[in-house]
Amino acid sequence: KVICIGEALFDLIADQKGLPREKVKSWTPYAGGAPCNVATAAARLGLDVTFVTALGDDEWAKKLLDVCRERGVQLHAVQRPKGRRTRDVYVVRDVTGDREFAGFGLPGTGQEYADAFIDPEALPLEELQPGAVLVTGTLGLSYPVTAAALRRAVAAARAAGATVLIDVNWRPVFWSDTEAAKKIILEYLNSADIIKLSDADLEALLGIKLALALINPAAVAERLPNARGVLITAGAEGAAYWFRSPDEGEHSGVVPAFDVGVTDTTGAGDAFTAGFIVKMMQAGGVDTLSSNPRLLKEAVVFASAAGASTCTRAGAIEGQPTLEFVQDLYDTSKK
Ligand code: ADP
Repeated sequence: KVICIGEALFDLIADQKGLPREKVKSWTPYAGGAPCNVATAAARLGLDVTFVTALGDDEWAKKLLDVCRERGVQLHAVQRPKGRRTRDVYVVRDVTGDREFAGFGLPGTGQEYADAFIDPEALPLEELQPGAVLVTGTLGLSYPVTAAALRRAVAAARAAGATVLIDVNWRPVFWSDTEAAKKIILEYLNSADIIKLSDADLEALLGIKLALALINPAAVAERLPNARGVLITAGAEGAAYWFRSPDEGEHSGVVPAFDVGVTDTTGAGDAFTAGFIVKMMQAGGVDTLSSNPRLLKEAVVFASAAGASTCTRAGAIEGQPTLEFVQDLYDTSKK
């Protein structure tokens, strides 16, 4: 069982690189939001997934619920806080498919979106069992109610012996005090078994350059001492990983990105996470995976195939590949 908690939103995407948002005339809406992306990608890859979120009372919400249901994601007590809209995010995409985000609904402005109010009392705690994987991010940490929900879920997962995977995906714009945010996020990460960082997270949160992380992933893990595993995603530069097995063996490596025609990289990191979880669960969990360097590397290659596959089509969720598509791409790495 995979349990994802956090925001579901609409990415409003435009291609005009360098144009200020006010000047962009047409936006194309795509369902997204990192935790929702992981939930839908994992379901598409065949996992049993529960998603916990809060949505507005609006069209975006209806569409997101439909997308999740179509994918077979189980929705747990989706909250609809009064007078709050579903989050939307303006994404201006450049020619390489990379994107820039704008932050709205900032904490303390009164303009918070519905996802700021995920109820700590409405969590599927009974599903957090040994063998289950809880996936969360850090955006919700900047909103007190949702932060309490995330912390409660993470604490319950740890107490129950479930595996906690936190995707840092840090957006400093949501925090008024960057240094305080770093402290809060690093402390939160102390409760994670597996931490996923993007190259941007590496620099912003840890001050580590990607080049170093790709040569020596253990240098990243040293800064995250409680983690049993670290995954570093770097777009077309590939991914690096470091894991410590229960008997203290350390395994790390770098996996190049698959060479695919790129349309839109939104959600690639989330598909990567979902792909990794698929292989981790197949292996029997983090203990066995981290004890077996071959399976561990295969999991990161499969995750990379899932990430790359998502780049070939537009939209974080609409662009998610089938299991066959990922498997075919993965198989090319074996030839
Ligand atoms: P994040 O959203 O975490 O920043 P990335 O954009 O780094 O995620 O993508 C996650 C993974 O997806 C990468 O490590 C890589 O394996 C794959 N990927 C991303 N962008 C590309 C690309 N342009 N070409 C091939 N694979 C890619």
